[in-house]
Amino acid sequence: MHDFKLKKNRLFCEDVDLEKVARDAGTPVFVYSRNALLDRFNEIKHAFKEIDPLICYSMKANSNLSICRLLVKAGAGLDIVSGGELFRAKKIKAASKKIVYASVGKTDEEIREAVKSGILFFNVESVAELHGINAIAKSLNKKQRVAIRVNPDVDVKTHHYITTAKKQNKFGIDIKTTNNIFLKLAKKLKNVDMCCIHIHIGSQIETVSPFVQAVKKSVALIDALNNKGACITHLNIGGGLGIVYKDEKPQTASQYAKAILPILKNKGLKLIMEPGRFIAGNAGVLLTKIIYVKDTQVKRFYIIDAAMNDLLRPSFYEAYHEIIPVKKTKGEKKKSADIVGAVCESGDFLAKQRRLPENLKQNDILAVMSAGAYGFSMSSNYNSRKRAAEVLVNGKKYQLIRKRESYGDLRRNEIVANV
Ligand code: PLP
Repeated sequence: MHDFKLKKNRLFCEDVDLEKVARDAGTPVFVYSRNALLDRFNEIKHAFKEIDPLICYSMKANSNLSICRLLVKAGAGLDIVSGGELFRAKKIKAASKKIVYASVGKTDEEIREAVKSGILFFNVESVAELHGINAIAKSLNKKQRVAIRVNPDVDVKTHHYITTAKKQNKFGIDIKTTNNIFLKLAKKLKNVDMCCIHIHIGSQIETVSPFVQAVKKSVALIDALNNKGACITHLNIGGGLGIVYKDEKPQTASQYAKAILPILKNKGLKLIMEPGRFIAGNAGVLLTKIIYVKDTQVKRFYIIDAAMNDLLRPSFYEAYHEIIPVKKTKGEKKKSADIVGAVCESGDFLAKQRRLPENLKQNDILAVMSAGAYGFSMSSNYNSRKRAAEVLVNGKKYQLIRKRESYGDLRRNEIVANV
């Protein structure tokens, strides 16, 4: 996380002292680096420059409007998964022709809105959905481009909650059905243009080999289908690139490109990609304050003002996030502790058995690192907790890009029944 560094023993994001942000904006607060977001986007762009792919930032990783707008202005398209994400994309005036839409459960209403908006592709996840899109496009007198999301049945070494490309997963369509779709159904469904294959094999994947396997399978499938009369011009290889949370050594963008580009050579396919975590993950931290230091007979707890509702990943996937104080003191002794929130669940922790300075005390600020992706976007109001604020740093300046929720926000749509 090169945009988050200790300078004279104080943690900075770019040129901004993070303790100052925490005291100004309050905690918990997510803080993102503009520079880190753009750097990661440009790394992919640069690595694949010889074929100029469409890089659709996967909004689910972090859908804050300012962040999406920043990436869209830098040339990104968007990968969306709901009517809500389409609404956000429109709010920032993202070009419809750079939007791809995946999801196993798109509703008629969502499909209609997206067809009307003129999105580039639906990534279709079932035969029923394909019929639905065709019917809606027909009713609107349009022909809609679609990608068939193929489940390539490859095994990916990542947490089982974030693998998506095994037969057992709910995502995508098997190869046999895909053949039927392109070679039989395509002739009947006049209002869809089936010109793309889409894959997304999982998330936080650290080695290139599953990507290589899946892309090879997809290209072979495209060749076979095109030889039999299909007209597939695009390949969408999804997201999934892993990042460093602890001591992982995931492939770099250029290693990834070096492995993928030769498979696409002379195929004449337009490449689409959907990175999310790779762009946003290391570009953000969550700042939180210690409320209490609690020593029990068996261990120490740092009880903090962030919790599983703010950052679900540790509770949900037992994910590791490095946690460091924003101020380092010299020669400090370390002690093992659990870092937990105030939610009434034993599963509410941000870290377990971490070696942290023994002298940490109430009101000290901790930074939970690599929290830029699947942090705020997975947060909730569980235990009627207000969701955190978000801040974007740009050099020496920073700006609030989401206000902390108020108690009023918590009850905004609720109606007290007179019973
Ligand atoms: N594309 C699709 C279809 C996804 O489901 C996801 C994540 O779930 C992504 C892209 C982004 O994945 P990642 O953040 O791992 O790059």
